[in-house]
Amino acid sequence: MKISVDDIPESGLSVDLSADGKNIEALAKGKLDFSVNSPVTAHLNLTKAGGGVYVAGSLKTRIRYNCGRCLKEFELNLNADFSVFYIRGKEDGREPELKAAEMDVQYFDGTELDTDEILLAQLALEMPMQQLCKPDCLGLCPKCGSDLNLGACKCANESRADPRFAKLKDFKVK
Ligand SMILES: [Zn+2]
Ligand SMILES: [Zn+2]
Repeated sequence: MKISVDDIPESGLSVDLSADGKNIEALAKGKLDFSVNSPVTAHLNLTKAGGGVYVAGSLKTRIRYNCGRCLKEFELNLNADFSVFYIRGKEDGREPELKAAEMDVQYFDGTELDTDEILLAQLALEMPMQQLCKPDCLGLCPKCGSDLNLGACKCANESRADPRFAKLKDFKVK
């Protein structure tokens, strides 16, 4: 959904929407390391402020990703509240002055906001760089590729000595 800045009344604009997850993925041009298979439902409050648009809202969706260590596929319900200030300008790498206030700033062309782009930016922020199925995922054995979460593989007996114990071996009691 495109929202023209001219259509936002001085009192602000409140929008409820459901965006197609596939459209949002397409906008990211393959840069997302997760997929958005469900619609993204969102509530947005848009207010004109200082030549830009202040957007506060919440979103809800379900995403699918592969664990960065064991590569297994997982689904995750994502709920996020956010507030972001859209200002006119290009992404030229310059830090906007508002950064000091720790406000999330995004750029737009100054005339029209695309709600899919707003939601994409928030989804990308919500997801940490490396997704794991659990914080202590053991991953795959680099030798045979077995999932070590399911138990030690045959290689374990050979050379996979825990580095913590390797250190202990060098420790001598005086
Ligand atoms: Zn994992
Ligand atoms: Zn192995």
